Amino acid sequence: MSEKIPYKIYLDENELPTSWYNVRADMKKKPAPLLNPGTGKPCTAEELSHVFCDELVKQELDDKTANIPIPAEIREFYKMYRPAPLVRAYCLEKKLGTPAKIYYKFEGNNTSGSHKLNSAIAQAYYAKKQGLKGVTTETGAGQWGTALSMACSYFDLDCQVYMVKVSYEQKPFRREVIRTYGAQITPSPSETTEVGRKILAEFPGTGGSLGCAISEAVEAATKQEGYRYVLGSVLNQVLLHQTVIGLETMTAMDKYGIKPDVIIGCAGGGSNLGGLISPFMGRKLRGEADYQFIAVEPASCPSLTRGSYVYDFCDTGHVCPLAKMYTLGSEFMPSPNHAGGLRYHGMSSILSQLYDDGLMEARSVEQTAVFEAAQAFARVEGILPAPESSHAIKVAIDEALKCKETGEEKTILFGLTGTGYFDMYAYKAFNDGTMSDYIPTDDEIAKSLAKTPKI
Ligand SMILES: *Cc1c(COP(=O)(O)O)cnc(C)c1O
Repeated sequence: MSEKIPYKIYLDENELPTSWYNVRADMKKKPAPLLNPGTGKPCTAEELSHVFCDELVKQELDDKTANIPIPAEIREFYKMYRPAPLVRAYCLEKKLGTPAKIYYKFEGNNTSGSHKLNSAIAQAYYAKKQGLKGVTTETGAGQWGTALSMACSYFDLDCQVYMVKVSYEQKPFRREVIRTYGAQITPSPSETTEVGRKILAEFPGTGGSLGCAISEAVEAATKQEGYRYVLGSVLNQVLLHQTVIGLETMTAMDKYGIKPDVIIGCAGGGSNLGGLISPFMGRKLRGEADYQFIAVEPASCPSLTRGSYVYDFCDTGHVCPLAKMYTLGSEFMPSPNHAGGLRYHGMSSILSQLYDDGLMEARSVEQTAVFEAAQAFARVEGILPAPESSHAIKVAIDEALKCKETGEEKTILFGLTGTGYFDMYAYKAFNDGTMSDYIPTDDEIAKSLAKTPKI
């Protein structure tokens, strides 16, 4: 291709994907089903429908349909901030002096500041279509709560957010954004639910955790008529919605004849990474092309690199179905000095299976190195990245520097999931030189893994 690759590739609105891509359809080994903790049997659609919206239950359980049409109403909303640009990181390449070609897909160009809106709008749409009054959810760092509050205000749905208490206190402006979009927000654990009261009695003064906020949100949904629970990551349905990221990227790359050699994403619950890699993984699974996939996780919460592939609880209160996944145990808590998101104890069942099958690699990185990469990136590419996204930047830079040594001209693609404007305390700690790293000991991990259910 002689045509010079632009700094940014923007697709037209009419090039927005019309279907999401369900990678499970092409997986030989399907991800393990969710289990009912009471019976130990796979959850039925009927059981799940008490917690989740009907259409989303269908998507959750469907491992056969490859292409699932995106409803017109959702595509209309996507047009507010999509298609998202694919950026050729010319400035970063130059700074690194690498022969590698680096691309990133930027998902931070909306008020939630992350890719989470891609699934929030879909989940709100199906809740509205079912005639529900509202939805409940949890939020940790706050991006998901923001995205869901935006989506609910668009469809005029009530939205109740349980925010992990430490974040609620440390990120007052995140909270105000969420309130501005009309959602109710409660610090978790709270006195408003049974499970919250139980956790508070057992651990008074706890700052909360995602697993605990999930339990509260699920209880709130099941106890109110006309409400369902929605989740911002981990579930199959969320990965499905996030495939708009990978589908747009593939369209943009195919248009210019670009083939990525390495595809990198940060991994918390796995939704952005799953969304970015799914269409490429589909080609790999069908034998049409080959790529190297790398999941990047924090060394302080290393579910893929140091966890076990077993059935585990998804939440602290054990009110959710059991999922088979790479996990650190549902009581695992990343050390308090861990700054960003990516702190969930488990990983998407789809990504867990792909990783277990050797189709994807994983690396863990320490947070000071992540912030060094974030700073280097911000100074040349202009965007102030979210700490989560910066895990992917770190490994993209590592790979590009390897190419500098070997002279290889690899094409590296990574997901830049969002912006870091609400993470200024973390940036401050980094700038002040007070940020530290913490790597859990084998003993700590073994201890929390010992509490996984015996299936
Ligand atoms: C939530 C979030 C993540 C991690 O979640 P995944 O489900 O693993 O994608 C990464 N980056 C940003 C900016 C986020 O908000």
